[in-house]
Amino acid sequence: MSTGTLYTVSAPSGAGKTSLVKALIEADTQVTVSVSHTTRPMRPGEIDGINYHFVDHDGFLAMLGENAFLEHAQVFENYYGTSRAWVEETLASGRDVILEIDWQGAEQVRKLMPETVGIFILPPSQQALLERLTGRGQDDQAVIDKRMAQAIDEMSHYVATDYLVINDDFTTALNELRAIMVAERQRLVRQQERHSGLLQSLLRSQ
Ligand code: GDP
Ligand code: ADP
Ligand code: 5GP
Repeated sequence: MSTGTLYTVSAPSGAGKTSLVKALIEADTQVTVSVSHTTRPMRPGEIDGINYHFVDHDGFLAMLGENAFLEHAQVFENYYGTSRAWVEETLASGRDVILEIDWQGAEQVRKLMPETVGIFILPPSQQALLERLTGRGQDDQAVIDKRMAQAIDEMSHYVATDYLVINDDFTTALNELRAIMVAERQRLVRQQERHSGLLQSLLRSQ
């Protein structure tokens, strides 16, 4: 069985990556999303183990000491990290994995696993980003101000990615994300793994 493809999806907070990734995995059973560990407080409506594994600061540092994270980063005063064991096991089972992580994390993962496919999502304007952060209605004004101030720095890292999606119309952006995954599955090395029998039989002389 061929191993899955690892994707990183990065974006400034509020650009729509969580909504887009959720819609993407609902319609595609071949791909799944990693649930990060975080020290951030839970938002209303979030569920431990679904949106994040919520851990306290000491718990996070203990996991870090056990080398449990494939990558980790501090974002907005909180720690976030990706479970190494879960990602490795899921890829080995043949499924594709999406990491919804910030640019620092995406850079660490690409160094460790150079075949990782990077996707960056940008909003159609700074105004739209502010409206989405506010409209989401889950963060207080001080948190929104901090996230807007960080947004330009996060967005400046788009140049390090493989694919860039502008999330203006949601359905268009979702279709663009799907197209990236379809194209990645047709890469020669992947098709050679998947169709080795067919490729051998096609080249056999009669
Ligand atoms: P949202 O993106 O606005 O919904 O805010 P979150 O609190 O979910 O995420 C905050 C930041 O942390 C974003 O830049 C995420 O990409 C990043 N992040 C989330 N999980 C991880 C992780 O496991 N590792 C790293 N490096 N960054 C993460
Ligand atoms: P992120 O995970 O990048 O922080 P979210 O997925 O939480 O972003 O989206 C932020 C807010 O913007 C949510 O309320 C979401 O419903 C909304 N949103 C996402 N994409 C669009 C879009 N294309 N047009 C308008 N609103 C959007
Ligand atoms: P939020 O707290 O709004 O859910 O996420 C804030 C930021 O943290 C987002 O940009 C998100 O992508 C990033 N993030 C979430 N999980 C991880 C992770 O495991 N690793 C890294 N590096 N960033 C993460």
